[in-house]
Amino acid sequence: MTELERNLAELEALLARYREEGIGHFIAGECQPSADGGTFDNTSPVDSRLICNVARGDAVDVDRAAAAARAAFPAWRQISGKERREILHSVADQIMQHADEIALLESYDTGQALRFMRKAALRGAENFRFFADKAPDAANGLSLPTQSHMNVTLRQPIGPVGVITPWNTPFMLSTWKIAPALAAGCTVVHKPAEWSPVTAALLAEIMHEAGVPPGVANVVHGFGEDAGKALTEHDAIKAVAFIGESSTGAAIMAQGAPSLKRVHFELGGKNPVIVFADADLERALDAAVFMIYSLNGERCTSSSRVLVERSIYDAFTQKLAARASRIKLGHPLDLSTELGPLIHARHQEKVTSYFDLARAEGARVLAGGVVPSTPPSEGHYVEATLFAGADRHMRIAREEIFGPVLTAIPFDGEEEALAIANDVPYGLAAYIWTGDMGRALRLARDVEAGMVWVNSENVRHLPAPFGGVKASGIGRDGGEYSFDFYMETKNICLAMGGHPIPRLGY
Ligand code: NAD
Repeated sequence: MTELERNLAELEALLARYREEGIGHFIAGECQPSADGGTFDNTSPVDSRLICNVARGDAVDVDRAAAAARAAFPAWRQISGKERREILHSVADQIMQHADEIALLESYDTGQALRFMRKAALRGAENFRFFADKAPDAANGLSLPTQSHMNVTLRQPIGPVGVITPWNTPFMLSTWKIAPALAAGCTVVHKPAEWSPVTAALLAEIMHEAGVPPGVANVVHGFGEDAGKALTEHDAIKAVAFIGESSTGAAIMAQGAPSLKRVHFELGGKNPVIVFADADLERALDAAVFMIYSLNGERCTSSSRVLVERSIYDAFTQKLAARASRIKLGHPLDLSTELGPLIHARHQEKVTSYFDLARAEGARVLAGGVVPSTPPSEGHYVEATLFAGADRHMRIAREEIFGPVLTAIPFDGEEEALAIANDVPYGLAAYIWTGDMGRALRLARDVEAGMVWVNSENVRHLPAPFGGVKASGIGRDGGEYSFDFYMETKNICLAMGGHPIPRLGY
């Protein structure tokens, strides 16, 4: 039996339960169908087979979940941070125990290669551990004394929150939002993406098993325009943490406006990797290739534009093309696979439309630019693609394609590199490759991005802030930044006695 056959057999065993029972909402500690009995089909992007039926939530189901989250909030906010820490560590332990299962299901539900999904499951556990350890200190504040008064701040959980997640690495991203919310003392209603609901259902069960009390973490499945919209409009939901497209973020801001919702947005990107001739070019090449062709290029921080100094442009793009054409397309459950099928036929259509556009815009296709003639399975594959000869005005250089598609643009000098880097609506991440530290510092300061990596691919440190500027987002996650969103800061001002109080009507 090959490794792929073993993984497929294991997957079949895991799927049996979902095929038989389908996936329901998870509300107040129980799996529940939609109030109106509605469901939708969830098919795999790997082989287009039906995985299971999923409850299709609407405003009524969201209302039930929000009521459960509201009812559970007073008790959850009251328990000690130490107790919350223990429960969240149990969640991390359970995730570790289920890591192989999570990785297999996630891989089959999203088309992402198993080699990356194994790490994503472990990172989910790490997210819970990291925020578990922060829970006992979450309420801490400052002491801000004056001569006459002592100001003391403390942080308190904002209330029940909505978490809305996308389909790329859905398990990891859900934990990235839910773990800090729970550590802060908030209760949660999670609306996962309709194209990848499986591991969200599993996470809800894992949290329940680990001792998260009923109503503290709820899940409502369904579509953005009904379940998602209802969640952002619900009065009991005090804040919405959203990861997804910039245009959806704008819609959510409008939907949440009447109830004055606090929002946190992690949105799209068109991230530049800027390569100067004096850089360590082998490392730059490895990093650029990894950041665009891993995770199917369906990654918000992908290095989707490579800006290369003109003197090395031809040589560097030739090397990129050679590496891109050797990227191993395959069945995602095969551990040697580097590139799996895209999430959905509609997304494949979007990505391939840029192949035609690149040619029409006059760019050269140095690698890929096609759907493989003999795909490894009946999934939505595209080949790892490199466009060269592009300029900053082309749509392939400005729009988020969200696939394994890299656009290479030449530049002359630091000033032009910066101008091109900043000439897009997005500002999530930037990667700078140079041997000149002064130049790296100048560019890091001036590039319009929430996160900059110098001579590195995206390497995350959980206390560090994560988020974007411009159309890439509002707010930061990570460490204390997450608590700033999920908590309110209260100031308590105590008089030391005897200060003059203005007298009126005396
Ligand atoms: P999407 O915006 O289409 O959907 C995301 C979620 O929002 C889904 O759960 C969807 O059902 C829901 N939704 C859709 N319309 C809604 C509405 N009107 N009200 C409430 N909810 C609604 O995004 P996607 O296609 O699932 O994900 C890909 C996008 O996510 C890309 O743009 C990518 O860059 C972005 N992303 C950003 C980050 C980041 O950290 N910045 C991370 C991952 C993904």
